Amino acid sequence: MTKAVIIGAGIGGSTLALMLKRFTNIQPLLYERAPSFGHLGAGLALAPNSLQCLDQLGLLQKLKAISQKVSCMNMYSNQKRKLITTMDNSFYQDIYKYPLLSFERARLQDLLVSELRENGVAVNFGHNCVGVSDRAESPGAVVAFDNGVEVEADVVVGADGGNSFLRTLTVPGGAIGDQGGGIKYTGWTTVYGITDQITQAPTEDQTQLISSLGCSHVCWPLPGKQQFWAITLHEPFPGPRPDEQSLQESLDRCQDLWFPESYGGNGSFMQGIVKRSIRTVKVPLMSGRWETPNLGRIVLIGDAAHVLPPFVGQGAGQAIEDAASLTNSLLTLPETPMVAGRTQHISRQDISLALENHTISRKPRVEKVAKWGENVGRGSMSESRIVKGLVELALKATTTKMIAKSVKWVHGPETLVKKPSQV
Ligand SMILES: Cc1cc2nc3c(=O)[nH]c(=O)nc-3n(C[C@H](O)[C@H](O)[C@H](O)COP(=O)(O)OP(=O)(O)OC[C@H]3O[C@@H](n4cnc5c(N)ncnc54)[C@H](O)[C@@H]3O)c2cc1C
Repeated sequence: MTKAVIIGAGIGGSTLALMLKRFTNIQPLLYERAPSFGHLGAGLALAPNSLQCLDQLGLLQKLKAISQKVSCMNMYSNQKRKLITTMDNSFYQDIYKYPLLSFERARLQDLLVSELRENGVAVNFGHNCVGVSDRAESPGAVVAFDNGVEVEADVVVGADGGNSFLRTLTVPGGAIGDQGGGIKYTGWTTVYGITDQITQAPTEDQTQLISSLGCSHVCWPLPGKQQFWAITLHEPFPGPRPDEQSLQESLDRCQDLWFPESYGGNGSFMQGIVKRSIRTVKVPLMSGRWETPNLGRIVLIGDAAHVLPPFVGQGAGQAIEDAASLTNSLLTLPETPMVAGRTQHISRQDISLALENHTISRKPRVEKVAKWGENVGRGSMSESRIVKGLVELALKATTTKMIAKSVKWVHGPETLVKKPSQV
């Protein structure tokens, strides 16, 4: 049987393992560095383009049960301390048949792990990948972990996130802070948190998005009247894992941020939402183009392949789409050859061709999403009063119908795993 070793059981890796198990004869072997998944982490929003993939896996209703449907987005001006416009999100359901869902990332992660278990796929926790040998003359690739375990693979998938080890093996200069194919710091850092129940919040199903000079602050509803908030700031690189002091320094710079009084805190973001948080985290925002490495038997998906700007909420969504696209390409592989009654590895050439097809079909779309995110980020993070004024004017003049039309290219295309007869 063809074996796909997947490094990283995050959203991309776990989704891929489920898709391979459900829709192919390929055996997914999933390895995760963490000893288990804790509950530290952000909120996430997923839109129709990725929800259709989770629906195909039979997960939509289960995800809905742990999510908050987001019915509209209120956009405010921090300077004027007033509402600019409201975008009605019902077009997602009306046009694309899926809503916009907001939930805790850890809940989706738990859902994926339990679904994997039910489908007989183990998540091998505590396996930190430290080496991959993929030589043209070897029959298959060999993946090594720091606990001494070694596994043979026909194909190796790096789903190991923005700080990807596999990217350093396949993309020149592929480590954090390097130039060229590397992942670079954007100059922006996000502080985010999850609150306890805010019962006085007037709206359980609305996102608040505030336009400020040189800063973006947003607040998403979570189930049970909790809120997920994020503030993005211009900062020098704070290191890959900023400490408590660094987090506090960023928050100290946010004292003037406004937030609707109705959430408590007398119109102060810090007093109303940040003070009510049960956990707060600071992360530097990285970016990394999709480089096309020498393919061989190794392929990258999700943040390992492309770290996207966070302003359009598509990082996890694109990781899920990557999983569907890669599954489609792997469905084109020939049967595993048998020699003298023993299973051999599929040839490196056949694997490489399938990975190349995946890259050709995915790269333009991912690059378009990245560009979209960069443009939105430039407007959101601008320190110019003139640019901010223009952004606010444009928001005021934009109708929901116009927004629905402008995101058709994101949510319109079908990103499902094809049936073998369609491949
Ligand atoms: C504040 C914030 C808000 C966001 N909001 C959204 C949003 O609303 N919508 C959205 O779509 N996206 C959002 N994103 C982006 C999204 O979180 C990522 O794009 C997504 O998690 C990428 O998934 P992934 O599976 O590629 O990587 P990850 O989720 O990072 O998973 C990688 C996994 O690999 C494991 N790993 C790493 N190295 C190794 C190794 N050597 N060996 C074994 N395992 C390893 C890690 O432990 C981890 O579990 C947000 C990001 C941030 C920071």
